[in-house]
Amino acid sequence: MALKVCKNCKKILEGTNKCPECDSEEIGESFKGKISVLNPEQSEVAKNLKLSKKGLYALRIG
Ligand SMILES: [Zn+2]
Repeated sequence: MALKVCKNCKKILEGTNKCPECDSEEIGESFKGKISVLNPEQSEVAKNLKLSKKGLYALRIG
């Protein structure tokens, strides 16, 4: 199944057209790079991307 990405919060989604994190329905299918956030408070990358929750996120959309 193709992965999708929430254009609002960059969360990577599978088989859904609505983001469970932010309830956005702005879902895209094109993104570059993935980051798995395990410790959002301790991760510089997560801070730079303004990610505050655990999960799998896209680095760049489009
Ligand atoms: Zn979202």
